Amino acid sequence: MRIGYGWDSHEFKSGIPLKIGGLALPHDKGLGGHSDGDVLLHAITDALLGAIAGPDIGALFPPSDAQWKNADSAVFLREALRRVKTAGYEPVNLDSTLILSAPRIGPLAEAIRKHVAELCGIPADCVGIKAKTPEGMGTENAAIANVVVLLRRC
Ligand code: MG
Repeated sequence: MRIGYGWDSHEFKSGIPLKIGGLALPHDKGLGGHSDGDVLLHAITDALLGAIAGPDIGALFPPSDAQWKNADSAVFLREALRRVKTAGYEPVNLDSTLILSAPRIGPLAEAIRKHVAELCGIPADCVGIKAKTPEGMGTENAAIANVVVLLRRC
């Protein structure tokens, strides 16, 4: 068994779509970044890579490389899953906590859970999607994701 941990943050910016967990969510701002800014998929990708002691997302997909501009972050996740498989492991479950002031994730959590589970090839009841507002943190204009993942030998 292996455990992995990933963390990411992105700043909210007007005029771009919001993507979290591979889903476009209704909101008046999106998350800036070189790729599509999907803070949750980035943290999951880093958790998977960390579990196999691999290079991190920034090393594999550097923002300085133009080919990753506006990239679909599912591409990063797929590469992490490919490396996990090559290392002889498969994901068992993952758990996440998002920290953001808006939009409210509760009503969207089921859809995010199902989509992330599909992307990771695990059952929906093996994906935890939790959200908090940034009380006292002063990070109202950012979205933060924390992820842990468990792998087993396959
Ligand atoms: Mg990121």
